[in-house]
Amino acid sequence: MEKECIFCDIAHGKAPCDLLFENERIVVFKDIKPHCPTHLLIVPKKHIRSVNDLAEEDSGLLAELFYVAKEMAEKVGVDKKGYKLLFNVEKGGGQVIFHLHLHLLAK
Ligand code: AMP
Ligand code: ZN
Repeated sequence: MEKECIFCDIAHGKAPCDLLFENERIVVFKDIKPHCPTHLLIVPKKHIRSVNDLAEEDSGLLAELFYVAKEMAEKVGVDKKGYKLLFNVEKGGGQVIFHLHLHLLAK
């Protein structure tokens, strides 16, 4: 767990969020400033700064992030209509929270 990382705090129950799913490795919560009617964040509990910092050993975790995203899309009922999955990578890619997170966006 990284000091002064809001997503580490959320993932470890030390900061509030609108939590939709949790297991040993991942949390899913609603984005605080949604860009779409459905805007969820799929977040590993492990602190990884960005996609650039993924290690080979994170491959399973990365696959699980996508699997959980697909499950959440079904759960909130946007799977049939369709949705976007998005990683912003570093400042130039629009990343503002430097703890890996997958956006699930649906209109
Ligand atoms: P990114 O630009 O990819 O780093 O996205 C960060 C996202 O996290 C933004 O859409 C923010 O609205 C969202 N966000 C920031 N702080 C919180 C928070 N405390 N709870 C939920 N979402 C947050
Ligand atoms: Zn973190």
